[in-house]
Amino acid sequence: MNLDFDVDSEFQEELDWADAFVTEEVEPLDFVLNHAWDMNDPLRQELIPPLQEKVQARGLWATHLGPELGGPGYGQVKLALLNEILGRSHCGPIVFGCQAPDSGNAEILAHYGTDHLKMRYLEPLLRNEVVSAFSMTEPQGGSDPTQFVTRAELDGDEWVINGEKWFSSHANFASFLILLAVTEPDAPGHERMSMFVVPADTPGVDIVRNVPVYGHTDGGTHSYIRYENARIPADHLLGERGQGFVVAQTRLGGGRIHHAMRTVGLVKRAIDMMCERVLSRTTKGELLARKQLVQAMIADSWIDLEQFRLLVLRTAWRIDKYNDYQKVRADISAVKAAMPKVLHDVASRALQIHGSLGVSDEMPFSAMVLESFHMGLADGATEVHKVTLAREILKGYQGTDDLFPTRHIPRLRAEAEARYAEVLARHGGPSKRHSGSLSQPQGAATLE
Ligand SMILES: Cc1cc2nc3c(=O)[nH]c(=O)nc-3n(C[C@H](O)[C@H](O)[C@H](O)COP(=O)(O)OP(=O)(O)OC[C@H]3O[C@@H](n4cnc5c(N)ncnc54)[C@H](O)[C@@H]3O)c2cc1C
Repeated sequence: MNLDFDVDSEFQEELDWADAFVTEEVEPLDFVLNHAWDMNDPLRQELIPPLQEKVQARGLWATHLGPELGGPGYGQVKLALLNEILGRSHCGPIVFGCQAPDSGNAEILAHYGTDHLKMRYLEPLLRNEVVSAFSMTEPQGGSDPTQFVTRAELDGDEWVINGEKWFSSHANFASFLILLAVTEPDAPGHERMSMFVVPADTPGVDIVRNVPVYGHTDGGTHSYIRYENARIPADHLLGERGQGFVVAQTRLGGGRIHHAMRTVGLVKRAIDMMCERVLSRTTKGELLARKQLVQAMIADSWIDLEQFRLLVLRTAWRIDKYNDYQKVRADISAVKAAMPKVLHDVASRALQIHGSLGVSDEMPFSAMVLESFHMGLADGATEVHKVTLAREILKGYQGTDDLFPTRHIPRLRAEAEARYAEVLARHGGPSKRHSGSLSQPQGAATLE
């Protein structure tokens, strides 16, 4: 038995350092930078890199990566604890080298890139000299990738790409895009596509517009991209032809759990703010904290968070244990499906408790509520994850040919009575509790 919720003192010291560092050095940047991924912003370039150097010196840079890629290889459980701290701040993940979508894109390049591609794209990405985007969703359908139509056709030693992608986040800052495109149009649904790395400055890769999202103050970073006869070298294919979905899973599993880890931190922040407010505000002669309906909101929020956190940590632990995202598919879908509701419910209560101030732009709650919808869409809609989870759960069960369920009480009772027939006969039959309705309380009066 090795279930243990203690964090070893050595890593706890690192977490304490990160907590103080994020509070003092990183969170203030959220109020002065437009977007921490904008490598062309001189203010960002002056403020972020010195903090990244401090994180590197501390050994906390890209803790999800193994030493072969320049990280300490702490694994997902430790990353979960660290991400809870980073999730409080927009700038947190990029200061610690584990920001989306770059961390997932790096995983793809590390797994499927040739040495040449790793040197050209992965290495500068890991050092955050550049940022990247993931270009998969299309305007006509995101949840059903079999509807994707963006084509990549081999022409001599180049792939020629034509089509449109939608919501390729941060493409306006990116040096390259990881693109999913149809290469085998006649193959079965999930074997039609392949993954590519596309330099963002390739002629024919054009941003139609950067779509703004309410609550994000960056003016729009979710790019609508048109690929028009964009040519990339043949060796920019990642993985096998037709295996784009398999390659995509390499990044999506990690990406989903990392979002969840950060969401734990965001939800905790909302609860902290809620608790401070109810202990500061008086109405009808007493603190809000004394009102039982308010207490219920605090208690429900704590329970929601702690349940979710346990699910996230257990999933992180299983990723470390199996090192195989296929084996933890159900766990990750469960985390992904739970995440938007926890954030939505807790942020909504925090907003409500803060009254008019809560709904205003002077507090972060309305942005957090909207962020919960972001969490329920990006990397797959909640409904789709519930379907995946249910399918995985049902693999462990089978139906019965019987008319009644195998746990049908009359059958179980008859079997038990047959098994103990001799003993029951000596005691004058089954006890009264079992001779009538199950709901009859023990010792209750009966009409005989
Ligand atoms: C903030 C943000 C950032 C994003 N970043 C990226 C990115 O960087 N790269 C990228 O490629 N994509 C990105 N996306 C896109 C995201 O992956 C898609 O929004 C998502 O896959 C859903 O696709 P869709 O928006 O086309 O919705 P649709 O597929 O049209 O689905 C709409 C709704 O239909 C319902 N639905 C869909 N399928 C089912 C089903 N099987 N069963 C029941 N109900 C269903 C759900 O309610 C779903 O929300 C991002 C999205 C957001 C919001």
